[in-house]
Order: sequence, then C-alpha cells, then structure tokens
Amino acid sequence: MYDYLIVGCGFAGSVLAERLANAGYKILIVDKRDHIAGNAYDFYNEAGILIHKYGPHIFHTNSAEVFKYLSRFTAWRPYEHRVLASVDGQLVPIPINLTTINKLYGLNLSALEVEDFLASKAEKRSPVRTSEDVVVNVVGHELFEKFFRGYTKKQWDMEPAELDASVTARVPTRTNTDDRYFTDTFQAMPLNGYTEMFRRMLSHERISIMLQTDYRDLIDVIQYKNLIYTGPIDSFFDFKYGKLPYRSLNFEFQTLDVEKYQTTGTVNYPLNNLYTRISEFKHLTGQKHDKTTIVFEYSSAEGDPYYPIPRRENQELYDRYKKLAAEVPNVYFTGRLASYKYYNMDQVVAQSLALAKKLERLNEQ
Ligand code: FAD
Ligand code: UDP
Repeated sequence: MYDYLIVGCGFAGSVLAERLANAGYKILIVDKRDHIAGNAYDFYNEAGILIHKYGPHIFHTNSAEVFKYLSRFTAWRPYEHRVLASVDGQLVPIPINLTTINKLYGLNLSALEVEDFLASKAEKRSPVRTSEDVVVNVVGHELFEKFFRGYTKKQWDMEPAELDASVTARVPTRTNTDDRYFTDTFQAMPLNGYTEMFRRMLSHERISIMLQTDYRDLIDVIQYKNLIYTGPIDSFFDFKYGKLPYRSLNFEFQTLDVEKYQTTGTVNYPLNNLYTRISEFKHLTGQKHDKTTIVFEYSSAEGDPYYPIPRRENQELYDRYKKLAAEVPNVYFTGRLASYKYYNMDQVVAQSLALAKKLERLNEQ
C-alpha cells in the first residue's frame, strides 16, 4: 500500500516525492517516458556532449527558498544566459536594449536618449491586453515587426494579438546595456546536470520509481491512498470538455566538428528560417570538448504537450477542468501541464513545495 502514487517524474512530481518521502510517506512515482527529470532531462549524447533532450533549460529564480531547496541535491555552475537575435543581417541583443537600438539604427544614443527614442516610436495602448499591445506600447510597430511578430507566429502559429499579454511580457525592454536574458537573483546550472540532480532527489528508501509506465495501467493493480497528477489535466478527465490546446516542438540536434558554433547560448531567428532559435549546449554547461552540439527548435501543433497556450478561451476551458479537479477526492493536480500555466522550472518547484506543505498539514489533522 502506497501513501501516494505520483504521476510524472518532472520537477512537479519529483519535488513532491522527495518532500513526502522525507515526511515519512511511502511513494510510488511513475512516468510513461523511459527517464526521470521530465522536460528537464539531460544526458550525454554519442559524442559525449551533455545535451537537453527537450530543448535548452536555463535555471533562474528570485526565490531563495527554491534555490536553497534544490541546492540539497546539486552543486551549481554560475551561468547567465545571453541571447542574440538575427535581424536585418546583424546579431543584436534580445531583450531589446541600448546596444540593440544603437546597432540596428547606426546610432550612438545614451541611456537617457534611447528612452526618448523609444517613446517617440511607442504606440500607447490602453488597456494592454494582448502580446501585441505589450510590445507596441513600449517600442512601437517597427521593432515589434522585427523582433516579435515573426517569432511569435512561428512559435504559436498565432498573431501576437491573439495571445495574452503575459507571453511576450516574458521578454522585457531595457534602456541600459544589460544583455542578460534573465535578471533573477539566482542564475545557475546544476553542476552535474539536471538528471543527476533528480536522481539524488529521488534516491530515498521510501520512493519507488517505475518508468515506461502509464499510471492508467496501474491504478487498478496497485493500492494507494492518494494520487498526485502532473500530466495534462484534460487527459486525466478523458477530454470530457474537449481538448486543451498545447504547443509542441520538434528538436533537431546537430553535432559539429568545431569547438564552438555561435558566440552565445541562444540565437533567435524572428524573421528568417522555419526554426525559432538555435541553442548551443556547451555555453550552458561549460563543458570542454573539441566538438559541439546545437539544437534547432521547430514549433508544432502535434506531439508531446510542452506549452499551454495563454489566451482567454483556453483559460476558460481550463477553469472548467479545474472545477472538476477540485471535486475528485484524494487527487491533487500540480505542475505546468496539470495547472495549464506557462511556468518556469522554479515556479513549478515553488508550487510543489507549497502543495507538499499543505498535504503534510492535512495529514496531521
Ligand atoms: P514535466 O517536466 O512535463 O513532467 C511531467 C511528466 O509527466 C512528464 O515526464 C510526462 O511524461 C509525465 N506524464 C504525463 N502523463 C503521464 C501518464 N499518463 N502516465 C505517466 N506519466 C505521465 N523553464 C525554465 O525555468 N528555464 C528554461 O530555460 C526553460 N526552457 C524550456 C524550454 C522548452 C523547450 C520547454 C518545453 C520548457 C522549458 N522550461 C524552462 C519549462 C520547464 O520545462 C517546465 O517548467 C518544467 O519542466 C515543468 O515540470 P513539470 O514536472 O510540471 O512537467
Ligand atoms: N518572443 C519573440 N521574439 C523573441 C523572443 C521571444 O517574439 O526573440 C516572444 C515569443 O512569443 C515567445 C515569448 O516571447 O514565445 C516568450 O519567449 P521565451 O524566450 O520566454 O520563450 P520560451 O523560452 O519559454 O520558449
């Protein structure tokens, strides 16, 4: 008899498994894939280069609690991600900053002057509702077209005007020369990779792991008191209200006989090519190797669900599933797919830590 059956070995499921096992409960955690770590899974490829199977994962957080918690299972390598965008035949920093504007327009503006420059371009929108509004409101149509419209169309197969503001709001605009993609307090990569961190998290005498196992094949076979579900919420309810749309990706990996392919971790292609971006893992991992592996990301409607699609009608459908979820006794939903939220890794960890505390309190009563 297990206290908890946990569906999904990603951040959401693994953090709960660790916390609840630590609190004395007996856990069975399952994943239909043949590995732990969910979408954060990394491994050494044939050439011996550490790569991320589901695209580049860069850890960043403002939460000291989350960072401290994960630090129990890994040491870290400091890493600040930088991204260039290929626009008008040049590679310029994205998020748009002072350098981007000066390079693109052949100017030599100061931080103060660039504020006026952007203000003169901005088209004020009120209210700011969509992913187009967010960008146009601050930098105007021209820069929106160059950096955001094409990329968003490729990534989501939708116009930015059809997506919630929160999507492009992930990428700020700066008037200084800070060219980091993220500005969080903690920015680092697990020193020996994500999978190793998960392996340590799940190495506990009260945790059993079953891979290549769909939980549906187990629920009538094993005995458990509670279920924690981190897969897509619509699938749990057999799509009773219809399918929630998710966006998928196809990854094309190439290993090249050169030490470095590009000057930065990721280069975005908002205007050209079918792929959205190329990432080179050695920048992220700091690995020394005479070859390098890069990954091209092609967005797709078919395939594993990776991204919930933030827009009102999807939120409304999710809310119906959420209501249903609240009525199922002893079943808890958490994580990016089960919450239908465009969460980063640290947000998922924070959500699972909060749920673990709640469950421990519930069990004490
Ligand atoms: P997942 O990692 O998806 O885990 C859910 C697991 O449940 C999966 O392994 C799945 O196989 C399993 N499962 C589903 N259904 C079943 C079933 N029926 N039976 C058994 N198992 C099942 N975040 C960052 O913070 N920084 C980044 O740089 C970053 N980059 C990203 C890049 C890409 C291309 C993508 C797609 C995401 C990125 N993320 C990034 C987000 C990050 O991947 C997620 O926040 C995080 O992995 C979510 O963890 P999770 O446990 O909720 O979900
Ligand atoms: N985006 C864009 N151009 C860029 C980078 C991002 O239009 O050069 C938009 C696009 O809609 C993208 C969203 O901003 O999906 C969020 O970008 P982020 O890099 O956070 O995406 P993720 O890493 O989650 O795929």
